[in-house]
Amino acid sequence: MIKSSILGYPRIGTDREWKRALEAFWSGKIEESEFHSQLQVIRLNHLRKQQEKGISFIPVNDFSYYDHVLDTAAMFGIIPKRFSYKGGAVPLSVYYAIARGTKDAAASEMTKWFNTNYHYIVPEMDGASPVLTENKPLIAYREAKEKLGIEGKPVILGPLTFLKLSKGYSPSETDAWLDRLIPLYVQILQELSNEGVPWVQIDEPILVTKLSLDDVQRLKTIYETFAASVPGINIMLQTYFESVEHYNDIVSLPVKGIGLDFVHGFSGNISSIRAQGFPKDKVLGAGIIDGRGIWKSQLREKIALLKELVKIVSPECLVVQSSCSLLHVPVTVKQETKLASELKDALAFADEKLDELVLLVNAITRDGAGIVGELEKNDRAIEALKQSDERNRSDIQHAVAAISDQPLERNRPFSERHIVQQKKWQLPIFPTTTIGSFPQSAEVRKARQQWRNAEWNNEQYADFIREQIDIWIKLQEETGLDVLVHGEFERTDMVEFFGEKLAGFAFTQNGWVQSYGSRCVKPPIIFGDVAFTREMTVEETKYAQSRTECPVKGMLTGPITIMNWSFVREDIPREQIAYQLAYALRQEVEALERAGIGMIQVDEPAVREGLPLKEDEQAKYLSWAIKAFRMATCTVKDTTQIHTHMCYCEFHDMIHSIEAMDADVISIETSRSHGELIHSFELNTYKLGIGLGVYDIHSPRIPLVEEMTSMIERALRVLDPKLFWINPDCGLKTRGFEETVDSLRNMVEATRIVRKKY
Ligand code: GLN
Ligand code: ZN
Repeated sequence: MIKSSILGYPRIGTDREWKRALEAFWSGKIEESEFHSQLQVIRLNHLRKQQEKGISFIPVNDFSYYDHVLDTAAMFGIIPKRFSYKGGAVPLSVYYAIARGTKDAAASEMTKWFNTNYHYIVPEMDGASPVLTENKPLIAYREAKEKLGIEGKPVILGPLTFLKLSKGYSPSETDAWLDRLIPLYVQILQELSNEGVPWVQIDEPILVTKLSLDDVQRLKTIYETFAASVPGINIMLQTYFESVEHYNDIVSLPVKGIGLDFVHGFSGNISSIRAQGFPKDKVLGAGIIDGRGIWKSQLREKIALLKELVKIVSPECLVVQSSCSLLHVPVTVKQETKLASELKDALAFADEKLDELVLLVNAITRDGAGIVGELEKNDRAIEALKQSDERNRSDIQHAVAAISDQPLERNRPFSERHIVQQKKWQLPIFPTTTIGSFPQSAEVRKARQQWRNAEWNNEQYADFIREQIDIWIKLQEETGLDVLVHGEFERTDMVEFFGEKLAGFAFTQNGWVQSYGSRCVKPPIIFGDVAFTREMTVEETKYAQSRTECPVKGMLTGPITIMNWSFVREDIPREQIAYQLAYALRQEVEALERAGIGMIQVDEPAVREGLPLKEDEQAKYLSWAIKAFRMATCTVKDTTQIHTHMCYCEFHDMIHSIEAMDADVISIETSRSHGELIHSFELNTYKLGIGLGVYDIHSPRIPLVEEMTSMIERALRVLDPKLFWINPDCGLKTRGFEETVDSLRNMVEATRIVRKKY
């Protein structure tokens, strides 16, 4: 009989009660014991839900108090030295100190979990001597069994992935580290086996990335050791997010099951299994329901796929699964009361995906008996959205097709634009500017709330925004900045603000997903053809410009960032969505220009986030991402200066793409890895305007003038002074009022000092 399973369930709860519990505990509103019991209620609810739906293998230990990578590090007692930890089970105070920092010790670094928008805490191996502090998977297994009679499937982050995601050791120490970790894993597995646990899921998503032959050998060593030491336990070696590299090596490992992603790694994995078959003595975890997307599955297609798989592996050896943990999707569509029905009916969040899994199992085992109605409903829902007006804007489709074929180039090359722009703007050497936002004070947030609750009318709110703009235009002038901004006070975030004004977007009431820790995001849904409907930023920008003689830079979010921070439709390629967004943004760029705004910044902080995991797909992605940026910005006059901003520092492999964007000025976050970045720009002789962030906006600390002068001078050793701009490394919306003003003053002072030498 075919079985069903998921790889993990969202932690946050139907109403984000998990987030609220964490924050209540952090702020001292609830005691630790109360906190534990609140989280237990949430955890058991999630298990009960899966039990009631009839999921065969229910994951346990997928739940976390913050992050599963941090859990794994804590389980092994891998605690950075700066936190006072005395051994034994890691207390919550230490656990949260690592995640969030304290006044004496900086938090551990946080970074993206593969190509998702989930962020994990990076384990720091330096100086650690791993021990098993507690068997967390066993505790979770026992709880599910005792409380609900569930035979859970403990989820454990595998050793190779854990080690690869950690830092604080050199590559040559990899084997030594594995030698320390493997016995701890064996101990966990042994205890689970003694308890009678039938199956564990060991996650090794690293297997979808490029592995060295040494890594393949390590993989063999790890799983051969597990097989030899704990023969009694069935391991489902789980991969996700892409197809596996080294298919043959992986399916030959001595484990009982192999989990593959047949959604995001479909073509790679299906060709491997078609060509090489699948071992008869193993279970296939077939990840065919998209764990990361929000759309209903095409059930008939999934059934056809399952029927094909059943010919390769017998039904007893097939588990129908989500492609990855459901951590990446919201909890349920049920609570959405405001979405148009043709959209709502086509959505499947975590709970609806459980239903789909069970339905698929029934479809195969009973050969369709009793599910005909369900399948027809599924067809109808998908068809209705497909036929909707929003997905069939021929005006947009034609316009985008037409401009995609154009050269998408500015009138003149940068070298010539630079001259006319210099002439027009008459900026001093080393112009100073900021990245766009100024502090979103409590007052600003409250005003927005009052306006949203209709306590304030549009005019009151607009007046308030204008007052803020006035305040900050004056402050920027007093500080001596050369290029001003309006401050982004009217925006909640970089995507929602634009999505609300563009056609093709929908907003859920409760579609939250965990981004990191207790922070959840509610990505918009791009469900239809994207279209410009009205000006989005012109009014505020024009107003700001009317209050000063200095140039005011318009501020837009770029097409790729909007796309990467949204849930997007899947019936057309991402590339097309990017072009539609670009076309809409182009109309905003042109409207700003018509309104007399001569400098326009199109932010693209999220370009790197969309980078495919597979190296051979990266160039293609970058090429259409760059094309979308150019599409949005190429029609302006020579004198109009296009700026862009990116906020991460791994640029070495992307400099040519950045150059190809052909922005007149790029500002980038660099203050934390300055030397390295300058080096990559030097090697690549970047030839466009560039502003290297001269101070770190993530810290409340006011940077000293001397720190910034030395940073600028260092950069000037490799960069052309005529192309160099000076700015903080990102937007200032999270900073306080006074520290922002003081920091900017120091920045301008540092610039003046350096200018004297040129
Ligand atoms: N213009 C945006 C701001 O200043 C850019 C933010 C970002 O890079 N994430 O807030
Ligand atoms: Zn930034």
